[in-house]
Amino acid sequence: MPSHSPEHAPSWYAASVNRHLEFPALEGEISADVCIVGGGYTGLNCAIELARRGYRVALLEARQIGWGASGRNGGQLIRGVGHEVERFRPQLGADGVRRLKLYSLEAVELVRRRVTEFAIDCDLRWGYCDLANRPQHLQDFARARDELLALGYRHELRLLQAAQMHEVVGSERYCGGLIDMGSGHLHPLNLALGEAAAAAGLGAQLFERSAATRIDYGARLRVHSARGVVRAERLILACNAYLDGLQPALAGKVLPAGSYIIATQPLGEARARQLIPQDMALCDQRVALDYFRLSADRRLLFGGACHYSGRDPADIAAYMRPKMLRVFPQLADVAIDYAWGGMIGIGANRLPQLGRLPEQRNVWYAQAYSGHGLNATHLAAQLLAMAIHGEDSSGFELFAQVPHPTFPGGALLRAPLLALGMLWERLKERL
Ligand SMILES: Cc1cc2nc3c(=O)[nH]c(=O)nc-3n(C[C@H](O)[C@H](O)[C@H](O)COP(=O)(O)OP(=O)(O)OC[C@H]3O[C@@H](n4cnc5c(N)ncnc54)[C@H](O)[C@@H]3O)c2cc1C
Repeated sequence: MPSHSPEHAPSWYAASVNRHLEFPALEGEISADVCIVGGGYTGLNCAIELARRGYRVALLEARQIGWGASGRNGGQLIRGVGHEVERFRPQLGADGVRRLKLYSLEAVELVRRRVTEFAIDCDLRWGYCDLANRPQHLQDFARARDELLALGYRHELRLLQAAQMHEVVGSERYCGGLIDMGSGHLHPLNLALGEAAAAAGLGAQLFERSAATRIDYGARLRVHSARGVVRAERLILACNAYLDGLQPALAGKVLPAGSYIIATQPLGEARARQLIPQDMALCDQRVALDYFRLSADRRLLFGGACHYSGRDPADIAAYMRPKMLRVFPQLADVAIDYAWGGMIGIGANRLPQLGRLPEQRNVWYAQAYSGHGLNATHLAAQLLAMAIHGEDSSGFELFAQVPHPTFPGGALLRAPLLALGMLWERLKERL
């Protein structure tokens, strides 16, 4: 089973944090206007947005701040929220779909602003390239570029043909690309820790090693941990793929899927630049996609795979290395210094799930970013806070009106069913 140790995953990020924060465990009974469960980007940004609007916030994190996907992801900050949002035209209409697309651009800007506003040192770099595995992908990129321009996207976008790919990647594997200078990459755990410091600075009370174990619902909520209780008027559930048994109905709408990353030894500037000459984040188009970039100390961080079994590979480095060598065979002599994985929260229709529990209108949630959460978590937090504050709930309502099916089969059957679906998608890729 995936490790649920309270320590951070053994990642290069955990080894290179630039601040050490420690928050107490919850002891005794406290009261707050809003209790937030989950100390990743969703929870932390809800805390920031609500604390700055004057709410008394108490945030419970089961392990350490940034322990979940937020502290261990690929660090790729890419435009877009959800996948193929045109599918939601029947529910949202043409205007609704257009607003979703605009939000997907705004979401990246929110992260940019967060980093600037709180001077968060997280190695933020701009520049990203979509990689085409097949000529068809290049046609898709051209359409995507035209659509972005029509939406008023103000960052450089440039299509690359096969012969130009050496400008962005030292690999023969790709037949084209789309450069986007409005997307980029960063150190995800340092971002989460910076946001935790910002939330605490605004007066939010953060608690670590304080798993919410039970919720007493009602107008006055009581959220229990092992040694304490938070009394609150509102609750936000922000646990994404790690929600487990706390709220089974919500957990049933998210499929946890394992994704894995390796970090090479430092390669030195010259060798690193041969792999990724312009220090961009890169990502291919397959269902079980490869994503990679350089770290600030010039390692290759190579991520990929999508495991639905609920079990991590026994040896993540051995599992991921051949994937890296298929892209960069020139790294055969390079050691892998770190290898780790985490759970992506996938929803059936792959649109982030924002809502309120139908029977408990004072319980709000945001989850299921489907592997594309760095920007979307920040957007979700802002939309939730604005709706809770009664400021403007139109963005929240736009997302909340889309229904999200529960995966059939409960916790046991969800994974095998989706594994079958994935297999089918991968077979189609080969046809
Ligand atoms: C390996 C990997 C690579 C990824 N790469 C990218 C990428 O490159 N770009 C991108 O945009 N997205 C990426 N993602 C997705 C992105 O990281 C997530 O969508 C995002 O971090 C979700 O944030 P969150 O705050 O909602 O959840 P999380 O960060 O997972 O936080 C949830 C927290 O809730 C806590 N929790 C759970 N239950 C309880 C409880 N009962 N009480 C208290 N606390 C509880 C957990 O301990 C956890 O810390 C990746 C994800 C993974 C796993």
